[in-house]
Amino acid sequence: MNMDAPYFSVGLTGGIGCGKSTVADLFAARGASIIDTDQIAHSLTAPDGAAMPALVAEFGPSYADANGALDRAKMRALVFSDANAKARLEAILHPRIRQATLTAAAEATGSYVIFAVPLLVESGGWVERVNRVLVIDCLESLQVARVMARNNLAEEQVKAIMASQATRTMRLAAADDVIDNNGDLAALEPQIAQLHDVYLAFSKRITGMGSQRL
Ligand code: ADP
Repeated sequence: MNMDAPYFSVGLTGGIGCGKSTVADLFAARGASIIDTDQIAHSLTAPDGAAMPALVAEFGPSYADANGALDRAKMRALVFSDANAKARLEAILHPRIRQATLTAAAEATGSYVIFAVPLLVESGGWVERVNRVLVIDCLESLQVARVMARNNLAEEQVKAIMASQATRTMRLAAADDVIDNNGDLAALEPQIAQLHDVYLAFSKRITGMGSQRL
């Protein structure tokens, strides 16, 4: 993150299924600019994606599918069994994701910027580059139920993904703000409204102040 970023920024995170996308949409409806690092990673590895030439050079053409997109299943299998390959993949992707998020943030027209980063707590650097860390929190049993329903996965598969992420306690320890998403959608609205007001007030203060932690 540009340390002189003239915008107020929030890093939005949460465990799988806690409601990051749901909450991001509600902030977007109020005028925040959402920059989704998962979407950016996806577009970098789509056909003609900006990371594809480097990935093919590093891992070979067999890691691209017939359309020229990254063969995700093959890459997932490789990095699962090979920590060195994971580091090589990240060395290609992370700087490009960072650059693309910066470009998107510089072009954002919303009242402030929200970076939606699923692994914000796990991946070094993000906490220092945003003004506030917002964690979307819910019970682990709800995560399991929501992801089973959304992705049609078995309970064990959801739990395996959760085990690869930071624990609920670790995420909450990194949070400046927490949204409780244990209730229904109606229970989210007042929490979003309240935080949006706080963020608007911060964004008026921070213009031109740099990206210090608030
Ligand atoms: P994430 O982006 O953190 O993985 P999502 O926002 O996709 O989570 O939410 C996971 C699933 O649970 C989605 O199908 C979403 O529609 C649903 N969901 C999220 N929050 C609620 C809620 N408060 N009430 C009912 N369903 C919800």
